Amino acid sequence: MSLTFPGGVHPPDKKGLARNAQIEKMPAPEELIIPMSQHIGALCSPTVKKGDKVFMGQLIGDSEAYVSAPIHSSVSGEVKIIEPRPHLLGKKILSVVIKNDGEFKKVDGLEGCSDCFSLSPDELKKKIRAAGIVGLGGATFPTHVKLSPPKEFPIDTVIINGAECEPYLTADYRLMVEDPVSIVNGLKLLMYILDAKKGIIAIEDNKRDSILIFEDLVARENSIEILGVKTKYPQGAEKQLIYSCTKRIVPAGSLPMAVGIVVHNAGTASKIHYSLKFGLPLISRVVTVSGEGIQHSKNLEISIGTTFKDVIRFCGGFKGTPGKVIAGGPMMGFAQSSLEVPVIKGTSGILIFPEDFTHIPVEDVCIRCGKCVDVCPMKLMPYKLGQLAEFGYFDEAEDWNAMDCMECGSCSYICPSNRRLIHYIKLLKADILSKKKK
Ligand code: SF4
Ligand code: SF4
Repeated sequence: MSLTFPGGVHPPDKKGLARNAQIEKMPAPEELIIPMSQHIGALCSPTVKKGDKVFMGQLIGDSEAYVSAPIHSSVSGEVKIIEPRPHLLGKKILSVVIKNDGEFKKVDGLEGCSDCFSLSPDELKKKIRAAGIVGLGGATFPTHVKLSPPKEFPIDTVIINGAECEPYLTADYRLMVEDPVSIVNGLKLLMYILDAKKGIIAIEDNKRDSILIFEDLVARENSIEILGVKTKYPQGAEKQLIYSCTKRIVPAGSLPMAVGIVVHNAGTASKIHYSLKFGLPLISRVVTVSGEGIQHSKNLEISIGTTFKDVIRFCGGFKGTPGKVIAGGPMMGFAQSSLEVPVIKGTSGILIFPEDFTHIPVEDVCIRCGKCVDVCPMKLMPYKLGQLAEFGYFDEAEDWNAMDCMECGSCSYICPSNRRLIHYIKLLKADILSKKKK
């Protein structure tokens, strides 16, 4: 069985820049900017005020909404101010700014469990919520919600996503090589919570060494399988990974639970292990800092709230004149206009490209070559969607399934006419959503 999915592209992986850089702990800076939105769902409200003393791991933001995740202080220190600050999504978001006292005093009451399996799944989900765990692959969906599928969708399989298919990114790879036990332990906890009988760790076959490490680790585990999936973008997209591993097809508009599967990122599994075992909330994460425009590519454990400016300085600064800074991978990440934005729970990468790498090619007319259709993993007609947006036929977009687009960018990448297909499709989707809201 070929462990792959229809469509997809093969961009140069560029992982060699950071692949061998061991995870290094970056010292927390003097000041941290911690936004009240770092997840899909309701914005948190601050639970502290200006002038308050805070401890490392202390709750500083929360929401009563179910789809949300609490936020904690990454350091001990004092709340300097609470105000809107630049955020990775391009707008200002209410943020708690903390002056680090350099003492890293932990808040009282952070208790782990010596035997997590003696607790009930509901008790563990409460702890996961309290720790503020969200999907670290970039989706930032609150983990406690993902672990609570309705009864009519029993889960038989948990897949750990170790594909890391975006070029340049190596944070998950390093975690899988350096701390695989935490990922396996996290998977076992996820399987227990969901009562899933099978666990899969799926890794792209360009990470052969990590596949071998996991195969060795789970050699005596009958319920856990290690699968080397084909190296192809977007192999790490949930629906594509599920198809590659199990050949199950998640219907359009449905979630993976519809086919009895839940997918969690490798970094998320590791954090679940640490938060349950040691009581540590999510206050730091592994980030790849790479690209041809940074002096030293690194994989760093970074305190949430550290600004991009501080991270870039820690990596030796820019190499040449910077042209573009991206949060995330080059295919699905977000270009940043300010270096004052902070690392948040969903920041898997910070990529820096020099000026001469950021030339935007001239867009030409569609030559109907069909390449965008061939590579679309969602079986859409990207060229048609591009035309609908370009010529203003927004009302027809839903009929052409624009909402099924996961914005992977494969169509834009392959197009010989440099059509800005993903840009057009985002316009269509925004129009559909705004009409629905009305
Ligand atoms: S790849 Fe580009 S040129 Fe080819 S059909 Fe699609 S939009 Fe047209
Ligand atoms: S139409 Fe959407 S899902 Fe299909 S290739 Fe383009 S960006 Fe990806």
